Amino acid sequence: MAVILKTPEEIEAMKEAGRLSAEVLREVGARCVPGVSTLELDQFAEDYIRSRGGIPTFKGYGGFPGSICASINEQIVHGIPSSTVKLKSGDIISIDVGATVDGWAGDNAWTFAVGRIGHQVKKLLEITEKSMWMAIAAARPGNRLGDIGHAVQAVAKSGGFGVVRDYTGHGIGRDMHESPQVPNYGLKHTGMKLQVGMVLAIEPMLTMGTHKTHVMRDGWLVVTQDGKPAAHFEKTVAITEDGPVLVSTEPGRDRPL
Ligand code: MG
Repeated sequence: MAVILKTPEEIEAMKEAGRLSAEVLREVGARCVPGVSTLELDQFAEDYIRSRGGIPTFKGYGGFPGSICASINEQIVHGIPSSTVKLKSGDIISIDVGATVDGWAGDNAWTFAVGRIGHQVKKLLEITEKSMWMAIAAARPGNRLGDIGHAVQAVAKSGGFGVVRDYTGHGIGRDMHESPQVPNYGLKHTGMKLQVGMVLAIEPMLTMGTHKTHVMRDGWLVVTQDGKPAAHFEKTVAITEDGPVLVSTEPGRDRPL
């Protein structure tokens, strides 16, 4: 599949989807408190998106039933919201959510702490977030896809954490998943050249133990094979002449570093 480059005007239009995606992510995150079910979070997100003129990008995507993916502790990605899954203090939860606005897809994710979390889990969150920012900083013209993956890997290694290889970031536009795949591992100066007009969802997934994954019987939920925690952060980024510009963000915050 060919990479679909976006014009500056199209990138501006994508920022509307990105802004709503970032807002709803922030608001869902504020509701990740002990006792709340992941289905309640999902319904909040769907209402929030629809009441502001968007469409939940994930709902129905490939048959996915929710508007958010809610993945707790050893769950890496693609958790289906449920009324029987309730948050408790000490959990971490990856919320992945997107809003489609004017036909443009949005996509972003953040891992939130519920109540008080352990020291090592806190470090996992900090390092995973840092790996995302370093990867975003590498998303500039002249660099290659391998530079993005290498940035994630280098930060993960500094914290002693694993990097999930079975799932990747991706191009994004009118479709949520476009070319290219954006692996969270790689070698510097290798892979596809990054070009002005590429819009990428950069989403490292780091693990406290093995990076190996397992898909549960519902066909969606991905967990770590050893049951140890995983964290996941994601932002949509446009590659411009001036470097990376955040697309899934709120106004005034479109420069990463
Ligand atoms: Mg994504």
